[in-house]
Amino acid sequence: MGAGVGGLAAAMRLSAAGHHVTVLEKAGGPGGKMRTSPSDAGPIDIGPTVLTMRWVFEDLFRAAGTDLTDHVTLTEDTILARHWWHDGSTLDLFSDPEQSAKSVWGFAGSKGERQFRAFSNRARRLFEAFQGPMMETAQPSSMGLALRVLKTPRLIMDMAPLHTMMQSLARQFDDPRLRQLYGRYATYVGGSPFGAPALLSLIAHSEALGVWSIKGGMHALAQAMETVAQSMGVRFAYHQTVKSILTHDGKATGVQTADGNWMADCVVFNGDPAALAGGLLGQSTRRAVSKSSVEPRSLSAWVWGFQSTPNGPPLAHHNVFFGKNPKEEFDPLTQGKMPDDPTLYICAQDRGGGHIPTGPERFEIIMNGAPTHAQTATTKEKELCHQRTFHALKQHGLTFGPEPKVQALTTPADFNALFPGSQGSLYGRSPHGMTAGLKRPTARTRIRGLYLVGGGAHPGAGVPMATLSAMHVAGAIAQDQTSILPSRRTGMPGGMSTGSSPAE
Ligand SMILES: Cc1cc2nc3c(=O)[nH]c(=O)nc-3n(C[C@H](O)[C@H](O)[C@H](O)COP(=O)(O)OP(=O)(O)OC[C@H]3O[C@@H](n4cnc5c(N)ncnc54)[C@H](O)[C@@H]3O)c2cc1C
Repeated sequence: MGAGVGGLAAAMRLSAAGHHVTVLEKAGGPGGKMRTSPSDAGPIDIGPTVLTMRWVFEDLFRAAGTDLTDHVTLTEDTILARHWWHDGSTLDLFSDPEQSAKSVWGFAGSKGERQFRAFSNRARRLFEAFQGPMMETAQPSSMGLALRVLKTPRLIMDMAPLHTMMQSLARQFDDPRLRQLYGRYATYVGGSPFGAPALLSLIAHSEALGVWSIKGGMHALAQAMETVAQSMGVRFAYHQTVKSILTHDGKATGVQTADGNWMADCVVFNGDPAALAGGLLGQSTRRAVSKSSVEPRSLSAWVWGFQSTPNGPPLAHHNVFFGKNPKEEFDPLTQGKMPDDPTLYICAQDRGGGHIPTGPERFEIIMNGAPTHAQTATTKEKELCHQRTFHALKQHGLTFGPEPKVQALTTPADFNALFPGSQGSLYGRSPHGMTAGLKRPTARTRIRGLYLVGGGAHPGAGVPMATLSAMHVAGAIAQDQTSILPSRRTGMPGGMSTGSSPAE
């Protein structure tokens, strides 16, 4: 259920393992949050834009018997991101760490450079220490993590378990701009640096390892995954909203859409696991995951996608325009409000690989937003977002001609409607608190034959993580196979046995 990156990756892995797979997706095509909106210049990415951890996709395509580079054209960005502050200062970070160190030296002096190097080393140590026992482990446990830490006791200092990310950054950087820059990485998993654990500094290292642009935009990756899955025999049925998951004797036996019942030996859910806990897929699967594994919720976003001509400072592919004060940005978000002076991320899609277009180009602008129960935003809220976004950019000297209209905006309420049960949260459960990473639901649910894949499940949100979760789901299904009915069930509506199933 669901053709987001997690669902697509699961379909590829399960098909490679010999299962007959049918993917039912409520939207008209693959990608989920990896969405686009049309423009004269071609599709505009209005979902993820920063592709990191390339090896995760290489592994996936290899497992499917093919090569990633046969399906997508990737170019490494030399500049990871260009950052802008209100005082007029700017900082580029590079894929080459030495170039980044030089850049930080020019920006914050020799002390800033030393602190940057120390922070980068710490982020690398954390990433390397937790990649195995956390991200790549199907069922991480506090015991497993404790054993890892015991092997290298210095990790305790690196983790700073009693500190939030911002508290830890305040001890590592004298320059408040560098604290603000590195604190923003908490938002990559929908957190605030004032609530996320210091451990999440490791996200900075995943980006320092390289950022890639995909020819045709990020959505080209989802399309490539769909193409490979189809070539392996996976069937895709679009405009199929699953209304409920069918169970018998406490085991998932299929799903129901408006077209009828699709029987299966097992069901993999790629939607937000909060939809299960909220009973949106039927009462019998309400207990599939605990409430505490899906709540509290992570951040949402206000997302602009448009074509226009920029005037002002020279943009790179990925740009961050910081608000004046991070506390004044994240406090309102925690209270469910839109910040007055937000930090804005701008993807200048056509500048991937260092290309500088002449004339109108495609842009995505993201402002962090609070989760919501609403299904639509009011015109007043959209206009407020317009005013705050473009006013903040004007203060940085950046204008767009023409400015987009509110029709180019996806709101937290729109995300709630697009991804049922999510409350518009884009990254599943909140990452706040030291043990948040252990609280997400894992691939195996409490209902036999019902599994989870995607950013709402372990190891969490982001395109590489959602893709990694497919490895966990394939592993869980392989382990459970002995207890799964060997008979082939139908993947066709109507319940007739025809020899194929959503995921056996
Ligand atoms: C604006 C934005 C920017 C982001 N930026 C980045 C970034 O730069 N880098 C990065 O790595 N990550 C980024 N992310 C996060 C990343 O996009 C997600 O973590 C990832 O794409 C989630 O994939 P998923 O497998 O969880 O599936 P989703 O994308 O959540 O897709 C789930 C699918 O399931 C379908 N579905 C749900 N319920 C049903 C049902 N009942 N019946 C049928 N189908 C159903 C939905 O329609 C959807 O297609 C961003 C996200 C957003 C929204």
